[in-house]
Amino acid sequence: MPEMNSINTIKTINEARKLIQSFRKDGRTVGFVPTMGYFHEGHLELMRRSIKECDETFVSIFVNPIQFGPKEDLSKYPRDLERDLKMAGGVGVRYVFHPDAREMYPDGFQTTVRAGALAEGFCGASRPGHFDGVCTVVAKLFNIITPDRAYFGMKDYQQLLVVEKMAEDLNMGVKIVRCETVREADGLAMSSRNSYLDAGERAIAPALHENIEAAKKALTSIAMDAAARPEDLTAAIEERKAGLIKRGFKSVDYFKAADAVTLKEISSPDELRSCASIFLAGAAYLGKTRLIDNAVFNIRNR
Ligand code: AMP
Repeated sequence: MPEMNSINTIKTINEARKLIQSFRKDGRTVGFVPTMGYFHEGHLELMRRSIKECDETFVSIFVNPIQFGPKEDLSKYPRDLERDLKMAGGVGVRYVFHPDAREMYPDGFQTTVRAGALAEGFCGASRPGHFDGVCTVVAKLFNIITPDRAYFGMKDYQQLLVVEKMAEDLNMGVKIVRCETVREADGLAMSSRNSYLDAGERAIAPALHENIEAAKKALTSIAMDAAARPEDLTAAIEERKAGLIKRGFKSVDYFKAADAVTLKEISSPDELRSCASIFLAGAAYLGKTRLIDNAVFNIRNR
């Protein structure tokens, strides 16, 4: 049995299952925070919330190979287990599940989960297969940990929606808890990938959040203006895209608004006004680093 107060690293599925069974026998609730490691304050907030709301908290650290495309950053994705364990232990986490790739995907592995329509646009369009990879690993992790509650960040809002839908469609019986995006003092959304940025790029990076916030204001004014036309919406979005390039981003992968429930793109002021909640998101390259960020907001009842 693991030690009482220190952090325990669990590397095998069997060991994790045994531990979970012992918690269940004692009627304890289990919270789960799936991650790819290289922790920052965003990850720690998810852990704190789970610790607050559940009797036991499991954090997983697994850089999931099947959610990376062939030209993506799997091999250079930042990793530092020692540092992660210290940080997680510091907020009171006692169990970290850290399997290796063969434990999760042994020879002969062949069954995957296919995400639906929510995975088609935004990051799904530029990263084919990404959300199938995410769903497959999250489904496996849910089957291993059998959490009562699982904590996901709004920073990856499309991922959150896709996972919520999977949990609902496949009757996984886990409550998905949405957690606000944690930002640096200058507004940059925290991300393990920020470690790729050099000093010059780091100084430019907050422009993604700034342009999303500026677009949010512009969209709100357009929605309130009865005479606004679809071209005004397009112009507002294009202005913010150009703003990113002007500030030093190399290219914009996407920058658009959608219904925050269906992720169906919004192309007119009428559609903007009829949405209960709006998802405004951007993905852009700063050098070789792809950064994403978003805002989810309401226009009605403001
Ligand atoms: P990752 O390790 O990047 O796969 O992220 C693990 C979890 O942490 C996911 O649910 C992310 O959405 C969440 N997360 C990542 N960055 C942030 C952030 N800045 N604020 C809140 N949650 C985050």
